[in-house]
Amino acid sequence: MRFLMWLALGVLVLFAVRKKAQNLARPDQPSQASAASQAEAGAAATSTGSAESMVCCERCQLYFPASEAVFKENKSYCCAAHAEQS
Ligand SMILES: [Zn+2]
Repeated sequence: MRFLMWLALGVLVLFAVRKKAQNLARPDQPSQASAASQAEAGAAATSTGSAESMVCCERCQLYFPASEAVFKENKSYCCAAHAEQS
């Protein structure tokens, strides 16, 4: 019988933790963990930002997002100046 009591307690704790995790996953939910969820959202934004493909400048070997690249003769450059200089 004692074992059952501990089992019930364990299940309760498990449910409480799951509920807390669900609250963290919802940033619009006002809760005591709003700061933590904001940090999580920031981390998600950062990870999506880094998911953008990075290209290397042919001249200075600097890595930068592909959306900022200057292309010339099928080569990528960090700026128009480096594209002109090569
Ligand atoms: Zn460059």
